[in-house]
Amino acid sequence: MSLRIVVTVKYVPDATGDRHFADDLTVDRDDVDGLLSELDEYAVEQALQISENSDDDVEVTVLTVGPEDAKDALRKALSMGADKAIHVEDDDLHGTDAIGTSLVLAKAIEKAGFDLVVSGMASTDGTAGIVPALLAERLGVPQVTLLSEVSVEDGTVKGRRDGDAASEQLEASLPAVVSVTDQSGEARYPSFKGIMAAKKKPVQSWDLSDLDIEAEEVGLEGAWTAVEDATPRPVRTAGTIVKDEGEGGKQLAEFLAGQKFI
Ligand SMILES: Cc1cc2nc3c(=O)[nH]c(=O)nc-3n(C[C@H](O)[C@H](O)[C@H](O)COP(=O)(O)OP(=O)(O)OC[C@H]3O[C@@H](n4cnc5c(N)ncnc54)[C@H](O)[C@@H]3O)c2cc1C
Repeated sequence: MSLRIVVTVKYVPDATGDRHFADDLTVDRDDVDGLLSELDEYAVEQALQISENSDDDVEVTVLTVGPEDAKDALRKALSMGADKAIHVEDDDLHGTDAIGTSLVLAKAIEKAGFDLVVSGMASTDGTAGIVPALLAERLGVPQVTLLSEVSVEDGTVKGRRDGDAASEQLEASLPAVVSVTDQSGEARYPSFKGIMAAKKKPVQSWDLSDLDIEAEEVGLEGAWTAVEDATPRPVRTAGTIVKDEGEGGKQLAEFLAGQKFI
């Protein structure tokens, strides 16, 4: 038996960089470096563990919808151990929202073929956390989201979802979509061997026409949501420095009381 796993991985602007909105209120991606969303590293890790723990023939494909530079995110996932990658890139994707992104991902997943889709719990930039559920709906398969533990056995995906009050054991028959949390297990670092091997792994590129998607269905035109306004956060002011010249403790207490901390 074989198992085809597709992991959705997003290329996101580096949160430590100085991020800006462009004039059309989309994120100015040219202005900041990007990287594989940290939360998607957990998804790659879980897919690799399913593969390593399986007696079946497992193929792990990583998929991204993003600009040219998004290939960096694919290379990282390949160097962690994924087998192959798919990059969907098209100028008409500029401004696509979560609904449009889920359409593109679902069409690409269908074209690639899948038994299991593994996603992160949310991207580290958009953080909507809805793409996995949208994917399950579009693909017409069950979804088991926010898993802290995941495994596949006899055509069934099983997992544990930890809530505030209880932990649930969940399962769904394949094909299915799951999302995993940052509690699912530390993601591995790519080894030197993995980095070298990744250079030779196949990366397939598709555009909208390969997926039979019209430009009007995606981009700013096809978006169901719109950013109406964006205001940069005020620059942080320097904090209050208390010099202890005998009255430091008192001044500190007065400051905390003034801020209603005590
Ligand atoms: C060139 C370009 C321009 C864009 N411009 C805008 C814009 O102006 N406004 C806007 O709202 N959105 C835009 N998007 C889409 C946006 O970046 C998100 O992909 C989309 O809105 C999903 O929302 P989220 O990141 O909050 O997903 P979440 O629901 O938080 O993501 C959950 C999981 O879904 C998967 N996932 C999400 N996005 C992707 C992806 N792109 N590729 C692979 N896996 C993914 C990951 O596994 C992730 O962990 C643009 C995308 C591209 C490629």
